[in-house]
Amino acid sequence: MLSDEVALNAITDSRLFYQTVDLVHGEKNIYLQYSVNDRHIETANEVFGDTDYIVDYTDQYTGEGRTTLVIGRDETIVSRIWQAIEDNDFWTVGELLGYPECCIESYMSGDGNGGPKMDCNDTVTELATYPSATNVLLEVWHLSHFLCSYDCSESVTIGNRRLDLAEQIQPERVATDRRKLASFVVHHDEHGACYATDYTLDGAEVTHHGFELAPGVSTQPFHDALNATESLTVHDPHSFTVDGETYDDPAFTLIFFE
Ligand SMILES: [Zn+2]
Repeated sequence: MLSDEVALNAITDSRLFYQTVDLVHGEKNIYLQYSVNDRHIETANEVFGDTDYIVDYTDQYTGEGRTTLVIGRDETIVSRIWQAIEDNDFWTVGELLGYPECCIESYMSGDGNGGPKMDCNDTVTELATYPSATNVLLEVWHLSHFLCSYDCSESVTIGNRRLDLAEQIQPERVATDRRKLASFVVHHDEHGACYATDYTLDGAEVTHHGFELAPGVSTQPFHDALNATESLTVHDPHSFTVDGETYDDPAFTLIFFE
C-alpha cells in the first residue's frame, strides 16, 4: 500500500495532489484527468506505480497528443469509468468521481454538447461574497468539477474536505492556497484573472494591497490600472471605477471570496 504522507508530499502538480488526497484516504475510489502530459503520467507512476492502485492512461478518447489518466482503487471501477467515457455517459463519470448531483445536472443541461461551463455569472449578485472553497478561478484545483453556482453547498463541503486532508500532508502549500482562495477576483473572459488576497469591502469601496496575476496569465490590460491606487469602486459584477476611469464590460466577473 501507499505510504500516503510520504508519497503525496512529493507531488507538485496541484491537480494530482488535491484530487488524490481523498482517494488515498479512502473517501473516493477513482481519479480522472483529461489532457495530461508525460510528466504527469511519470509522477502518477512514481507515486502510485508500486501500490495496489491502478494507474491507467490512454489517448483513445481525447485525440492526438492528449492523454486521459485514471487512477483507481481496483480494476472494476477503472473499467467502469472507461466504459462511461466511451459511452459519453457524463452522469456516470460524474457520479464515480463524487461530483455533486446539482453540478452534474447543471453541466448536463448546458448547451454546447455538454462542454465545459464556467459561466456562473447568473449566480453573482451585487457585491455578495462567496465561500472561498468555491473559488475555481485561480487554478488551485482543489475542485475538479464544473460548479452549478459559486455557493453550491456540496462543492463547499468537498473543497474544504480536500483542503483539510491536503493540509495534513503539505501544510505550507495549503496555507498559501487558502489565502489565495479567499481573494477578490477580477476575471475577464478573454484576458484571464487577477486577484487581491488582502482586501476589505466597505459598501461599494474596495481597498487592497495589490493585485497579482492568476497562474498562466502573463499580462492583463487592467492589471496595472487596478494597481495604480489602493482602492476602487465596484458598481456591479461587470463594472468598476478605478483612478477616475470606469471599466464596464460584460466579459468581467468581479467576485469576492472570503
Ligand atoms: Zn452544485
